Amino acid sequence: MSTIIKSMDASGNDGPIAPDGTPWWEITVQPGTHKPFGQERRLAAWLWFNKEIGDIFTMNELRGALGPDIVGKSEHLNRRLRTLRSVGWVIPSYKDDGSLGTDEYRLQAKGARYWLDEDRQAHKRFAPSARMRRDVIYRDGGRCVVCGTAAGESYPGEPDSKARLTIGHRVPQERLRTRGTADDIENWRTECARCNEPVRDEVPDPWQYDEVLAQVRRLSRGNKQTLLSWLKRAERTRSQLDRVYDQARVLTHKEQEDLIAYLRTSSGNSS
Ligand SMILES: [Zn+2]
Repeated sequence: MSTIIKSMDASGNDGPIAPDGTPWWEITVQPGTHKPFGQERRLAAWLWFNKEIGDIFTMNELRGALGPDIVGKSEHLNRRLRTLRSVGWVIPSYKDDGSLGTDEYRLQAKGARYWLDEDRQAHKRFAPSARMRRDVIYRDGGRCVVCGTAAGESYPGEPDSKARLTIGHRVPQERLRTRGTADDIENWRTECARCNEPVRDEVPDPWQYDEVLAQVRRLSRGNKQTLLSWLKRAERTRSQLDRVYDQARVLTHKEQEDLIAYLRTSSGNSS
């Protein structure tokens, strides 16, 4: 959801080379200090200047480009990628997208220019806390409000996919920032990584307007009204039936079997 802040343009820090003449991703010590230059910062700079949207990269490639210390074990890399994802980067792994190999990551959207102090701090101030994230996802029933998919569920027709939930803004952060308004929980909503992507035209749209319209025409009047309200809000509300399903699907296996037995007898359907 984040767009790139152009605040650094005036200071001439837009390019791949830091003021001391080194590429940003090769800097190991914060210029003018003895503090280490964070590995997330090097990673962000390398991806920004060396990868295009849609490119796939591997951990080995990162080791080659940034040195073995930046990646280490995969959990180290995952922690770094999490940091970047929290400031607007969209970087699915094989866990989010079954078409990727276990060592592959796709750069789907670039987020904050994390290697630049000003950009990093602007985003950190507005980054949601872990608690905020948990509260928002809990409030929204653990599902993407746009498409209704829950964490770990596969997308319709894509059994290999697995949705990952994140939280996104109703009103973009940049607008809040210019208003000087602080962020609060009401401005956040649960989104799956796919619906959260700022760039959606990567995947060719499989549906033509006429095909969709033909389906819409076949809907009952009530379903048309529901669809209209979802589209107007750009959010999918969940029905009472959906909510009961959410509760039922987290029952134990035994409890679900009991429930299935109950439904078979009480709904008059023995299939
Ligand atoms: Zn979604």
